[in-house]
Amino acid sequence: MLRFVNFNSVLLEKHCSNCKSTKVYRLRQAPYCGSCNNNTTIITTPKLEACIATKDKKILDVQVIGAAVDLVLALDRAFNQIYIESVSEARDTLATTSRFGRFKINASGHVVAYETEP
Ligand SMILES: [Zn+2]
Repeated sequence: MLRFVNFNSVLLEKHCSNCKSTKVYRLRQAPYCGSCNNNTTIITTPKLEACIATKDKKILDVQVIGAAVDLVLALDRAFNQIYIESVSEARDTLATTSRFGRFKINASGHVVAYETEP
């Protein structure tokens, strides 16, 4: 079972679409990357902390990042959109969400795949 933790510190990470640097900001209204020294497109990625309780009662700390967030949540809207509209709604959603099923976790502790058990 997966549930989300520390949802009060949910963050949306902004990074450059070219070089993935997080040194992005708005310069005269235009999105700009301090690593590329150029205008760029800023990608916003949710980064959530969660823990998974395994069948043998171990607790794993994991992160759910980017596309995996919507894969695991499977809401009717993208999580980013909910967060941008209402941070408190996004937190409530995480606080009340748990997921059962099979999770695939990579070496960095990121959830990379999820399927519900039949
Ligand atoms: Zn860049």
